[in-house]
Amino acid sequence: MGSHLPNNVAIIGCGLAGLSLALALHAQSIPCSIYELRSTSAKSTGALMLSPNALRILNSLGVFERIRVKGYNFTNIAFKNEDEETTDLYPLGDEHRYGYKALRIYRQILLDELRSMVHACDIAVNYGKKFSHVISESSTEVLFAFTDGTSASASLLIGTDGIHSTVRKYVSPSISPNYSGALAITCAIPLSALHFPPDKDYSTLPVAIHGANGTFVIAPQDIDGSEVLAGTQKKYPEQTREEWDRLFSAKDELLTLLSANKSAWPSLVQSALDSVPKETLSIWPYYTVPKLPSWSSSSHHSRVLVIGDAAHAIPPTAGQGASQAFEDALSLALLLSHPSSSPNLAANLEFWQTYRQERIDRVVKLTLKLNNTRLPKAERESLDKKMIWSSESDLEELEWLYNHNIKEAMLAGLEKEK
Ligand SMILES: Cc1cc2nc3c(=O)[nH]c(=O)nc-3n(C[C@H](O)[C@H](O)[C@H](O)COP(=O)(O)OP(=O)(O)OC[C@H]3O[C@@H](n4cnc5c(N)ncnc54)[C@H](O)[C@@H]3O)c2cc1C
Repeated sequence: MGSHLPNNVAIIGCGLAGLSLALALHAQSIPCSIYELRSTSAKSTGALMLSPNALRILNSLGVFERIRVKGYNFTNIAFKNEDEETTDLYPLGDEHRYGYKALRIYRQILLDELRSMVHACDIAVNYGKKFSHVISESSTEVLFAFTDGTSASASLLIGTDGIHSTVRKYVSPSISPNYSGALAITCAIPLSALHFPPDKDYSTLPVAIHGANGTFVIAPQDIDGSEVLAGTQKKYPEQTREEWDRLFSAKDELLTLLSANKSAWPSLVQSALDSVPKETLSIWPYYTVPKLPSWSSSSHHSRVLVIGDAAHAIPPTAGQGASQAFEDALSLALLLSHPSSSPNLAANLEFWQTYRQERIDRVVKLTLKLNNTRLPKAERESLDKKMIWSSESDLEELEWLYNHNIKEAMLAGLEKEK
């Protein structure tokens, strides 16, 4: 191991950011351990969409080939109007343009693959350990506590503990997540239960149908596309965590919410609403994390950091939440392994945060443009066209997102910082 490398990194949270960070650090010969509040048997539900920028990183970590064959590979999502005519195609991947198709994969399958790779690298994962607080931080070490009264130390502590992060309370205490006012209600339906009207073109899936009730999404999610996610989003008042849990369990109430004003949807959506397996109904209240003043404990010794949703949970429409967490993980591992980070950690972290925040800000802008495509027709038509995503004017824009070379950008930036 190079003498400039951190000798012991503690990662709080064994989700997508934590696991990918552990693999990226291991690839740079930086030792780390993970602490996760849940037990080994805890399971996650639902599927995720991964775009080329994420898949390129997972490829570099040796994960891509393991997951490619375990999910649904596709190129575009079709936007349709109320008459079910295709109005645009939004690429979520493209093998020729961006090197990869998009991949929709169950979260648990992805987590299982990442965990088995972490295990194969002999990285310790300590389950049932809930991080509580930082006890002290010096220029070489962080001492931190768990809720069971035990403590541990590390040369760096990295919070990958998600949107309601406890580590963030130390790094940027003034920040807490904002509820956007919108709730997604989704379910999983066999594709065979849907009635596709023969006179309409549904050759491209996933599809987002923009109708009088809002937008209804149908997205294949099994390897062969035999199951689809179906759902829509609605304005809904903020709830406490306990109340969200109650709503999640109230399947009849969710079905009523999802099916509201059913006759106003096209017949395809109505066929979906007639076939909902109630136990698959789920909710996703959209919370976002406002811009952090700092991603690291810069007012102390910069030895405590946050990445992933803890640093920047973003709205879902561009499907970039997990992808941006992978970008954080790889770029941070490259930073920590760079010789200049040993003497200049704080300065390098400042450069890294600016670089990462610029990309997040662009994703948020893109998300806003995509959200505007989902507005009711009258509202949409009242907006400046530049505010609405269209393949005609915005397709080239996706190059910065999908074809970005993190290694090049990081090395160039770190050389400048020297
Ligand atoms: C329904 C849904 C659908 C989504 N679909 C997509 C999609 O299609 N594409 C996409 O890119 N993104 C999607 N996202 C967003 C994506 O899931 C997140 O951006 C991503 O999971 C962030 O990863 P993370 O590791 O930062 O956080 P998380 O996945 O939330 O992981 C945090 C981990 O930290 C643990 N933890 C929390 N607190 C503590 C503590 N105090 N001590 C120890 N451990 C702790 C948690 O148990 C968890 O394991 C979706 C999200 C949801 C909810």
